Amino acid sequence: MTKIHILGYPRIGAQRELKFALEAYWANKITKQELSEVGSQLRQDNWKNQDQAGLTWVTVGDFAWYDHVLNTSLLVGNTPSRHAAIEDPLERMFAIARGVSSSCCAAGASDMTKWFNTNYHYIVPELSNATEFELQWTQLFDEIEEAQSLGYQVKPVLLGPLSYLYLAKSNDGVNPIDLLAKLAPVYRQIFEKLEALGIEWLQIDEPIASLELEQPWKEAFASFYSQSPATLKLLFTTYFEGIENNIEWIKSLLIDGLHLDLVSNPKQLDSIVEQLPEQWILSAGIINGRNVWKNNLNNSLQLLNHTYEKLKQRLWIGSSCSLLHSPVDLDQESQLDRDVRDTFSFAKQKLNELALLASGLQNIGDSRDQILKQSTALLALRSKRAAINPRVRERSAKLDQHSAQRPESYAKRHAIQQQALNLPLLPTTTIGSFPQTPDIRNARQQWKRGDLSQDGYQDQMEQHIKEVIAFQEEIGLDVLVHGEAERNDMVEYFAQHLQGLAITQYAWVQSYGSRCVKPAIVVGDIYRDKDLSVYWSRYAQSLSTKPVKGMLTGPITMLAWTFPRDDLAAKEVATQFALAISDEVEALQNAGIQIIQVDEPALRELLPLRRSKQDHYLNWAVTAFRLSVAQARSETQIHTHMCYSEFNEIIESIAALDADVITIEASRSKMDILNAFEDFNYPNSIGPGVYDIHSPSVPQANAMSELIEQASRYIPLERLWINPDCGLKTRAWPETKSALKHMVDAAISVRQQQ
Ligand code: GLN
Ligand code: ZN
Repeated sequence: MTKIHILGYPRIGAQRELKFALEAYWANKITKQELSEVGSQLRQDNWKNQDQAGLTWVTVGDFAWYDHVLNTSLLVGNTPSRHAAIEDPLERMFAIARGVSSSCCAAGASDMTKWFNTNYHYIVPELSNATEFELQWTQLFDEIEEAQSLGYQVKPVLLGPLSYLYLAKSNDGVNPIDLLAKLAPVYRQIFEKLEALGIEWLQIDEPIASLELEQPWKEAFASFYSQSPATLKLLFTTYFEGIENNIEWIKSLLIDGLHLDLVSNPKQLDSIVEQLPEQWILSAGIINGRNVWKNNLNNSLQLLNHTYEKLKQRLWIGSSCSLLHSPVDLDQESQLDRDVRDTFSFAKQKLNELALLASGLQNIGDSRDQILKQSTALLALRSKRAAINPRVRERSAKLDQHSAQRPESYAKRHAIQQQALNLPLLPTTTIGSFPQTPDIRNARQQWKRGDLSQDGYQDQMEQHIKEVIAFQEEIGLDVLVHGEAERNDMVEYFAQHLQGLAITQYAWVQSYGSRCVKPAIVVGDIYRDKDLSVYWSRYAQSLSTKPVKGMLTGPITMLAWTFPRDDLAAKEVATQFALAISDEVEALQNAGIQIIQVDEPALRELLPLRRSKQDHYLNWAVTAFRLSVAQARSETQIHTHMCYSEFNEIIESIAALDADVITIEASRSKMDILNAFEDFNYPNSIGPGVYDIHSPSVPQANAMSELIEQASRYIPLERLWINPDCGLKTRAWPETKSALKHMVDAAISVRQQQ
């Protein structure tokens, strides 16, 4: 029988059970025992689903209370010494992830960063010369026994030692590779434990094997994988990119099987099969682990048939990557349009796709007929849904290089805008959102439930806008915002108002720890058939003589934070978003809005993993942004906001966005981040954040004026704006009020010294 498996299953639960249990536990509302029972139930449900679908093994080791990289840190005994006083491993784990502030053992959290090119974030392991590893933690082994005691065949998953080291950060300049000698024996001990538990196959995840690695890393791979475990077989798993450029050195590793992500890179299949060592199995990652679409199984069958004929039982079928990045269960979506829903497949449904595909390959029963029927029905549904809008396609086909070009240069626009806006030196502003108070959230919920009328809801939102405007005038900010009270989320709000997107009820995906996101799904061509934000912006502007910024989400961020279509290139979808946004820009300026901010915090997120593909992406991403604001008249000032980013390697593209003003997170780096802008001679205006909005503490005015002076060493005062690091949505009013007052005071004091 063809072996079928997945690289991992979502751990949050179909109803986000893990999230609610964790948050209740952190708030001391449930006991550790109760938390542990929720986890155990989730694992059992996940295994049962895999077993019932007919998978060869259940995957164990994909569950995590917070994050699987953090699990690995505990497993190999590498936790920061500042948390060492916390004896209980679970408590220590939460302290590493979230920080602790109790007087006995205050210690900051470890950094968190994006897991490759996904929206999942992992806790960054910390390394130093003093780092020692030790097998300490038993969760992995306990869970294996838990699954075995339920009668399941188990294939554990473990993050491999090289990827673990590569994803870590060095606290004292130690080269992570130099720690392999210390880490390797712990992995060998783990292998022995797994053997003692009767495990045949270990899925050892080495996703970095698809990157463009430096020679020392390749050598480190060769060194660790030069020794086979006694009986345990290693399935070396790669994902998120192809490995055709690395197969040369991977080929010589002592492993027993190789997993390929054929979704991110289907082209690699033939060349890898050609070169596959005779004794290896090949696991074909064919069902997309990170989207929401049904697989066209007939296409997959065609793609794999040839390989199956060649490899027979040496070919396994799997998900492209862990299903961690897919929503959990489509069966819950009762409110979706049927025709749309029938084209989707979430994690639970993907298990059945795998099983059917494996039967099809082996030509079991009527499986091939079923596959053909399903694929034909899928295609019919997709064309019936008219995902194509000829007018949108035509408009995008007509674009040329002038379409993304504003009429005047920055220097000319700057002079024109200065005349129109008459702003002081170091203008003060905010990033857009003000505190989303329980009042606001309640009103929105009541309105959604139908307990509050449209008019009633509108009145309440207007009341909030009025208060926000009055407050900003009172403290003397120069450029105001309406506060975004009407938005639950900067992407979902626009997804709800644009055509071409579906909003689900439960398609949650873990972002980090207990935090989940529910991206909208791009199901068809995108266009704007009504105003998106004009009503609120016009209302806010009517309350003040100062400029109130219009506030939009940019095309790349819309693309990055929604589930993409699988039948249209990302670049095309970005263009469609851009055109829709450009219509809104036009409408806003016609409504008298003089400054429009188009947020692009996700610009860097979609950067391809392979350097050789990055320029192409940056090119179309920048063009999409420029297209979205090209309608702006010279006197309309375009802002963009990008949160925190590694700007160094993309600074040329940031400059190419040609926004009149860019605001970024800068306070925690003490303005160091401006280095990249200075080195590049970045020509336009910048608002480096002068205070961290992630914490409730209120910064003093002099701390902020020092940061402003620090910033002026990189960027001349004439091109500096003063603002917080990011939106204030998650803050409460009292700290927001004091912090912003201090910020305005700081700007005034620096101005007065000039
Ligand atoms: N305008 C948005 C806000 O202030 C920007 C959010 C973001 O950068 N992620 O909330
Ligand atoms: Zn931000």
